[in-house]
This record gives sequence, C-alpha cells and structure tokens, in this order.
Amino acid sequence: MATDYDAPRKTEEDLDQDSIEELKARRADKTAGAVDVDEAELAESIELPGADLSNEELSVRVLPRQADEFTCSRCFLVHHRSQLARSDGGRLVCRECAA
Ligand SMILES: [Zn+2]
Repeated sequence: MATDYDAPRKTEEDLDQDSIEELKARRADKTAGAVDVDEAELAESIELPGADLSNEELSVRVLPRQADEFTCSRCFLVHHRSQLARSDGGRLVCRECAA
C-alpha cells in the first residue's frame, strides 16, 4: 500500500515538474515569438518615418534612387527622370552620356 501510494505521488510530482517545465518552455517560446513580432512591428513602424528622414538627409550627400530617378547605364550616376535621354533594352542613358 505504501509503495502504491508512493509510486503515484512520485509520478504526480514528476508530471507536475514536467508540465511546469513544459509551461516554462512554452512560455519562453511564446515570449520569444512575441518579442520577435514586436521587434518586427517596431522596426517597421520605426523604419517608415526613419526612411523618410534619412532620405531627406541623404538627398544632400548621397542620392538613393527614387521612383522618379534612374541610374545611367554609362556613367552610373543617378539622374532625375527628366534627364533620361533614352533607354535601349532597359539600359537607361542620361542626356549627358547620350549627347
Ligand atoms: Zn550618364
């Protein structure tokens, strides 16, 4: 009887410990996943206004190619679309190089 009583008690403890460890592991997984999502969301929400700011700052020094800009296939400079002289087969040529 004593051994019978002991055996299930031990098993119960083991089960409890197992479930606690499992819960911990699950909670850790959940937390890690939640942190990843939060970071991704934060990065996205921060990146959007940040990108605008950096574009404005960068426009003075380095020009990141904008939607209305193109990279000349000859001088490899970024020009405004108004400077586009021609594009043969997807290769864009600025007016300076086309002249
Ligand atoms: Zn050019």
